[in-house]
Amino acid sequence: MPHDVIAPGTVWLVGAGPGDPDLLTRKAERLIAAADIVFYDALVGPGVLALIPDRAERVGVGKRSGRHSKDQGTIDRLIVAAALAGKRVVRLKGGDPAVFGRATEEIHACAAQGIPVHVCPGITAASAAAASGTLSLTLRGLARTLTLVTAHARGAEPLDLDWQALARPDATLAVYMGRAAAGEVSGQLIRAGLAADTPVVVAVNVSLPDERLIHGRLDALAFLVRAIGERDPALLLIGAAMGQRPPAYDRSAGAAALQKIA
Ligand code: SAH
Repeated sequence: MPHDVIAPGTVWLVGAGPGDPDLLTRKAERLIAAADIVFYDALVGPGVLALIPDRAERVGVGKRSGRHSKDQGTIDRLIVAAALAGKRVVRLKGGDPAVFGRATEEIHACAAQGIPVHVCPGITAASAAAASGTLSLTLRGLARTLTLVTAHARGAEPLDLDWQALARPDATLAVYMGRAAAGEVSGQLIRAGLAADTPVVVAVNVSLPDERLIHGRLDALAFLVRAIGERDPALLLIGAAMGQRPPAYDRSAGAAALQKIA
């Protein structure tokens, strides 16, 4: 494993994927192995954190046990300071850094100090959730567009989203940070014309040992999310393509067939 994959004094924003270390890119793994210091979010899986070498410093900057995360300005300053001190800096972000990852703030903070900064992509939650459900996010005829949207509610304020645009029957909607606002999301989409029986999947802890995919319909969304723990990451997938579950098949018969081939 070459140690020089990161030049001293540079920053890599690295996509950590949905949690399972097997869903990291090979490049992400090499970067983690070469880091002097790793800043990571709360959503980065324990199996990924286990890949950080013992000699590297690790700094958690995400929400933990109800305590507030460091604010973005503080995170920017910590990353910049580490790079200016000549360290090889890895900033691990859940999923893909470019999807609801505040990547631009950190990139600009580094660039403003003349620090070289690079991005290594990761598997975003929507891709991983679709894979776990053996579903396709786009589907000929049924889902021509895929929209990634965040429904992070600020206190009691209503969500500032264009519901008419989102309520397309031929689309898949992936709602990040949408657990708390699930009732509002389903109510608004139905009011904007999306069918109440549109299939939904609530994907919880995707790719982790306690993964759960809860299938249902749009008008039951608020009910479906009730079973989810406060701290478990959950993604809402909404749209006709989410109803295309594969027909049940006998896994043991499949395994027997494979054995025969071998
Ligand atoms: N950059 C991340 C998204 C960060 S926003 C990505 O590309 O996936 C955080 C939200 O992502 C969570 O609230 C949840 O909606 C979703 N998410 C991230 N990891 C997840 C996982 N393992 N299972 C389900 N949802 C996940």
